[in-house]
Amino acid sequence: MDLMYSSTRSCDIKVTASQAILKGLAQDGGLFVPDSLPKLDVTLDELSKLSYQEVAYEVMKLFLTDFTKDELVHCIECAYDDKFDVKDIAPLKNADGAYYLELFHGKTAAFKDMALSILPYLLTTSAKKNNVSNEIVILTATSGDTGKAALAGFADVDGTKIVVFYPKDGVSAIQEKQMVTQQGENTFVVGIHGNFDQAQTGVKQMFSDKKLQKELEDAGFQFSSANSINIGRLVPQIVYYIYAYTRLIKTGDIKNDEKINIVVPTGNFGNILAAYYAMNIGLPVNKLICASNENKVLFDFFSNGTYDRNREFILTSSPSMDILISSNLERLIYRICGNDAALNSEFMESLSKTGEYHITDEMRKQLSDFYGNFATEEETAEEIKKLYDKTGYVIDTHTAVASCVYRKYKNDTSDDTKTIIASTASPFKFSNNVMRAIAPEFESTDDFELVDELSKLGKVKIPSGIEEIRNAPVRHNTQCDVDKMEDMVKQFLTQSKKSPTSKR
Ligand SMILES: *Cc1c(COP(=O)(O)O)cnc(C)c1O
Repeated sequence: MDLMYSSTRSCDIKVTASQAILKGLAQDGGLFVPDSLPKLDVTLDELSKLSYQEVAYEVMKLFLTDFTKDELVHCIECAYDDKFDVKDIAPLKNADGAYYLELFHGKTAAFKDMALSILPYLLTTSAKKNNVSNEIVILTATSGDTGKAALAGFADVDGTKIVVFYPKDGVSAIQEKQMVTQQGENTFVVGIHGNFDQAQTGVKQMFSDKKLQKELEDAGFQFSSANSINIGRLVPQIVYYIYAYTRLIKTGDIKNDEKINIVVPTGNFGNILAAYYAMNIGLPVNKLICASNENKVLFDFFSNGTYDRNREFILTSSPSMDILISSNLERLIYRICGNDAALNSEFMESLSKTGEYHITDEMRKQLSDFYGNFATEEETAEEIKKLYDKTGYVIDTHTAVASCVYRKYKNDTSDDTKTIIASTASPFKFSNNVMRAIAPEFESTDDFELVDELSKLGKVKIPSGIEEIRNAPVRHNTQCDVDKMEDMVKQFLTQSKKSPTSKR
């Protein structure tokens, strides 16, 4: 029996894993969730003897049950190969009493590569399985890192096109340059005059616009998503938490079945939700620590059970977490309200109408696995400096938010459980702010001068994904207002037409 996926907003939509991946978002605007969470069928000890790719198979097969072994192994092997600059894909660095799980060794130097290297393979396999002949148009809103990782993953993939919307003034200089220099005839990048939430809302609206879908269908296209609302993003993210734990068993740092804490710098709640799923399928977790920057909606939510996005949107030095509407929280809300789609829909409707909702006490009790806190801009910079001065290890601004929140957690609780901190980006992606934190005397407005100096100070090689954009020509310079996103998509699809060679 295949594991089926339902929408968080109605009980009558049920699809297989491959169909959920193809659709991205359910047609009622809900997110696809598995009807039950499976359990690992091998022990953690056994997993500690396997490679990243083999662990990926053991985890992903539990969720993507309508994929054959051959299909899944093929997707995994194509994704986690020498695109990653380390053989173990996601290495752990022990610094100042915590384990930093480096998830940024893929092509674009952010953790988004962990899932977006495999998503194109999962998606084209899903299309084949479901006899889809339409060309798939990936619509993506990005707070900076998803965009580039998705572009890199889908560039020149037969049978797909990709459109990325990013907030024109809301990403780092390196992030922007990475996107606008993207190669590939099927790629399209637009800077919007608005913030990430507006980009994401615009994209979600296109997904639930029936008229637009009919128009596309007639022209031989259908939408899918590369955002973490797609279950095909979430499942590969569960893998590295399991993998990291088993490496700690292997090195003897933890005993089998010893509980650990996981700290995640959080924006759209995708990465931490993957950790929560990892816990539910059998990973021994003590606390899931949700770290926010000054856009601390989630901290407030964990503190008082009220989700309230009615507040100023703050542009911070950790732009990939500048989010007030954390989409994936909906999957957690659905679960803690007893998989009650009607009740979840009420919360989401309230969120879209009034900008807030309050969960029940009963639901709050089920959040005891989580701890939330936040770091200010000043604290984030201090954290980078402190860790660098003490250990020589350089972390990026997002990881610094997590690292700082972990310090606060330890102060609050005196808990000394071994802790993994998700390190979500290479410091080179945010060289400007990282350099200002560790070497304020080095003044330069040239991004690559900062990158070069950072490489010297941190004694780390510049990732190839950063090096290769140093002199790359700009290929995309389209901008639009928030209310013109749909027009942009249509314009792109007409001008690029369906590629005649399209085949899979
Ligand atoms: C996307 C991103 C995050 C936030 O992850 P979510 O899954 O959206 O919570 C944190 N750090 C970096 C560097 C990111 O790119």
